[in-house]
Amino acid sequence: MLRIKKSSKLNGVAYEVRGRVVAQAGEMEAAGEKIVKLNIGNPAPFGFETPAPVLEAMKRRLELSEGYSESRGVLEAREAIAAYHRNKGIEGVHTDCIYTGNGCSELINMCMQALLDDGDEVLIPSPDYPLWTASVTLAGGKAVHYVCDEQSDWMPDLADMRRKITSRTRAIVIINPNNPTGANYGVEILNQIADLAREFGLMIFSDEIYDRLLMDNLEHISIASLCPDVLCVTFNGLSKSHLMAGFRCGWIVLSGPLDLAKDYREGLDMLASMRLCANVPAQSIIPVALDHLEETRPLFQPGGRIYQQREAICETINSIDGLSVIRPRAAFYCFPRIDTQRFHITDDERFAIDFLKAENILLVQGTGFNWPSPDHFRIVFLPTEAELREAMEKLRRFLASYQQN
Ligand code: PLP
Repeated sequence: MLRIKKSSKLNGVAYEVRGRVVAQAGEMEAAGEKIVKLNIGNPAPFGFETPAPVLEAMKRRLELSEGYSESRGVLEAREAIAAYHRNKGIEGVHTDCIYTGNGCSELINMCMQALLDDGDEVLIPSPDYPLWTASVTLAGGKAVHYVCDEQSDWMPDLADMRRKITSRTRAIVIINPNNPTGANYGVEILNQIADLAREFGLMIFSDEIYDRLLMDNLEHISIASLCPDVLCVTFNGLSKSHLMAGFRCGWIVLSGPLDLAKDYREGLDMLASMRLCANVPAQSIIPVALDHLEETRPLFQPGGRIYQQREAICETINSIDGLSVIRPRAAFYCFPRIDTQRFHITDDERFAIDFLKAENILLVQGTGFNWPSPDHFRIVFLPTEAELREAMEKLRRFLASYQQN
């Protein structure tokens, strides 16, 4: 038999969140070593629990969830989703314009497959959640990255976004609140992005999976609520807000001039039916989950675990010579800067591997988030405050003598 090669469609597709550094950690674990994981936004292993009423609902619904659902999703789930997004000010949300998926991940892929012809361009933030870039590439498109500016609390650089629009640009992606920076966008910047979309006739994909994970009394604004005249696809789900990433439960809401998107929706309908439907037990708990939005909120307020962990991580990172971090305002990620000159770093993946091997702590390098230079890394601050402080002391110790070249 000949050697089996992967499809050339995968050439150029990168997804470093589960890449080489993680593989190295896997090898170390297999050899019996213990690794502190600051690399993945999966709350369950860190002692966070799905709210009890949601778990109870899942148990009750399990026996009623054996069959396929409609491809777009269980109707009661879509009704609850429609009500949630109408409440956030998005006009005219109808159950027909909602699709449920096995997490947002599946839907990100579906939306790109349904939209893009070879060479079509999509504007994507840098840094990004890398599934966006990977999905655009896999669909034959070209991910064109606009800069989010660290000097402006990681807000999108509108001038850069404008400069990168070409005749092939089909859409603008925003990730708000943002992974990996933890930024939450205000009304002014969102209006400017909406204006750009209007000016160039572009659609907007807004990934809002962290919209209920805000700190500092901030409010989340859905860009779709500001531009009912622009075709928007809003992404959301239960993985993060309900601490149940393993249930695989996400959705999209299409809003705006839907008559202009008939053809695109036919594409989405076809792809949705080709995978038959999303996991039905997970869909069945969406109404209960969206009725229980308060359970996890205390975690993000002063005294709450995630809030305190954010305080600890920012304080310790900013006290380490050669590191600095912009305070994240949402979710559980931060994206510290590392002084590459001081440590002679030219390869941030090597930095992550060197640190992993020396201290058994797993981080993801910034270039894994489509950030162009080797001067950042991402930390997931889900472990306890004590574990984070200990990990950062190890980073301080490691950096005290680290010189890459
Ligand atoms: N979008 C962003 C910005 C994320 O950070 C993640 C997961 O980390 C996802 C989407 C995927 O979420 P899901 O679990 O719904 O597939």
